[in-house]
Amino acid sequence: MTFPRTIAIDFETANERRDSPCAVGLAWIEGGRVVRREARLIRPAEMRFSPGNIRVHGIRPRDVADAPSFPEAMAPFLPEIAGSLVLAHNASFDVGVLAATLQAYGLAQPAYTSLCTVQLARRHWPGEGGPGQGTYRLSALAARVGVTFRHHDAGEDAYACAEIALAVMRESGAPDIVSLARRLGLARERAGEGERAPDGIAARALRGVAPRPARAPVLHFVVRGSTGTPYDVRLIEGRDGPRLRCSCAGARFRPDCRHVRALANGEVDALLSDNPGDVAALAGLLRLA
Ligand SMILES: [Zn+2]
Repeated sequence: MTFPRTIAIDFETANERRDSPCAVGLAWIEGGRVVRREARLIRPAEMRFSPGNIRVHGIRPRDVADAPSFPEAMAPFLPEIAGSLVLAHNASFDVGVLAATLQAYGLAQPAYTSLCTVQLARRHWPGEGGPGQGTYRLSALAARVGVTFRHHDAGEDAYACAEIALAVMRESGAPDIVSLARRLGLARERAGEGERAPDGIAARALRGVAPRPARAPVLHFVVRGSTGTPYDVRLIEGRDGPRLRCSCAGARFRPDCRHVRALANGEVDALLSDNPGDVAALAGLLRLA
């Protein structure tokens, strides 16, 4: 049996904007292993690099001055993403970068399905580690499955993401990653809604899974609550500007719950999602409110 093409993808961004990718990494999975790896530097449309982002990935304006623009860099890969299963660690970020940047350049959104390896790991290795130990971070999971990589190099991060998915797949005895997602009860998210659906094998394999509505490209964090429960914290557009909304019960009564306050203060101790750079960017965004 053949499965949809599976590609792990990772973007690094120049600043807090989703449409500012400055590097992309891709790793193709076939037959239970990584068969191809690619990485490209990207020259963002706006050459504005935030110190927090530079601290994370080390890419500076001079490094990308002569790099291809997003449309040029992605041209060989976009046809491959169409109809694929896209893996990413904290997928809402990478899916959001792809969607926002395609939109910024007026390019068509390819239809594909995404699967988050943070969720995959959390389902497969539930409730491990105490609060704030970052058990589901890319670096921690890579160490756990014995993958050596240079963190925050896009090509290396995509490779580590692919190897983590493969390790979970092998441990659980699933024949492929689509079966694994189904087995773990993870809904894969369809992107590129409104575009023509992928044809053939990929479409048949993916049919029967009800697509959830595509997420808007927003900042999204997963934090561990005091009892270990993970909560989603999202940056939303409030009446008085951007604000954070938490999924915890307390936030229904008090919007600035402890999780929101911690992130707004730049605290990453309880952060489960692999985006401490986004927390650094938050302070600036919230100051606008
Ligand atoms: Zn909360």
